[in-house]
Amino acid sequence: MNSIMEKFDKYVMHSYGRYPLVMENGEGRFCEDENKKKYIDFGSGIGVNSLGFCDEKWSDAVCDQVKTLQHNSNYYYTAVQAEYAEKLCETTGYEKVFFCNSGAEANECAIKSARKYSFDKYGMGRHNIITLVNSFHGRTMATLSATGQDVFHNYFFPFLEGFVNVNANDVNDLKEKLDDTVCAVMLEYIQGEGGVNALEQDFVDEVYRLCAEKDILVIADEIQTGVGRTGKFLAGEHFGKKADITTLAKGIAGGIPMGACLFGEKVKEVLTPGTHGSTFGGNPIACAGANAVIDRLNSDGFLDKVTKKAIYFRDKLAKCSKVESVSGIGLMIGITLKSKSAGDVAKKALEKGLLVLTAKNKVRLLPPLTIDDSEIDDGLDILIEIMEEE
Ligand SMILES: *Cc1c(COP(=O)(O)O)cnc(C)c1O
Repeated sequence: MNSIMEKFDKYVMHSYGRYPLVMENGEGRFCEDENKKKYIDFGSGIGVNSLGFCDEKWSDAVCDQVKTLQHNSNYYYTAVQAEYAEKLCETTGYEKVFFCNSGAEANECAIKSARKYSFDKYGMGRHNIITLVNSFHGRTMATLSATGQDVFHNYFFPFLEGFVNVNANDVNDLKEKLDDTVCAVMLEYIQGEGGVNALEQDFVDEVYRLCAEKDILVIADEIQTGVGRTGKFLAGEHFGKKADITTLAKGIAGGIPMGACLFGEKVKEVLTPGTHGSTFGGNPIACAGANAVIDRLNSDGFLDKVTKKAIYFRDKLAKCSKVESVSGIGLMIGITLKSKSAGDVAKKALEKGLLVLTAKNKVRLLPPLTIDDSEIDDGLDILIEIMEEE
């Protein structure tokens, strides 16, 4: 038994099912385990390493910041946080941002803010938040309660009240539940953990139309879909929509823990001093990483290239006889297989030097946004060979 794995088993809580391998280092779109075996990365650490492993400009920005000022609390201002806040708001068209350290925290902030917006304006009783069946919003008590999947609603009773689930793409169900106890509707444009399923345009249109009528906020959880993943900075752009509140995390800082909650015009004043906070939120190192990511995404033609790569990926997959269908948008790719199980394919891929993810019964790909065509070819050769094996 490998002593690293032994230490894990002995000392680290067994809350994850891990593959039996020890990752040691990474470069670009490849990483290497302790036996120097190389892997092509189609997972980017669950959509986190948006610029691949140890991108030069990104790591220089992060290392320079580490050597300048690593943290100083939110009692003071820092240039790096100011610079990133401006870039993020200007890129997304939002008015304000609150920084935190993870997706669940960004959603906590969105939930608190929606409730406070409604309380400030209408008083008590209008606190319910509609979330969708098959959604995933995080692992904290509130975000777990928000998550519309029964498998997550175990052990930790009692869950928070104030979350009502609606079936995705079911306008009648939505209309029925959108009563005067509701302050917000929270959605993922593409349900990620729920199986890489994009919402239908008509449903999204109806959510926005009905919410606008009743002054109900729309919260877009873009923790997985945001920051260029779909070929637009925000996936809402594909639907022609801008939510009142949008949450980001995962790929935002290229591998440094960070979350952000973006506020539009209506809610730009909702959080007042003392109503919310985070010790680490907006940490200078995270902001330095995030600056490097947003600069790259805003550089000439970068997001168009993401779209082109996504088309290339999808065309090749669609031609594979063992693929039933391909879902998602851009480089957020779900693959439904005709016969093989997604978990078996992921395991085989690992043996052959390719990292892929799964979501429900699908193989899920979230490659680094910087992947190039030859790397896509090499990875897909492995994946398609596995899918076509008898
Ligand atoms: C990953 C994810 C989260 C949770 O993010 P953490 O950083 O793990 O807390 C929430 N919502 C969506 C859509 C996600 O994909």
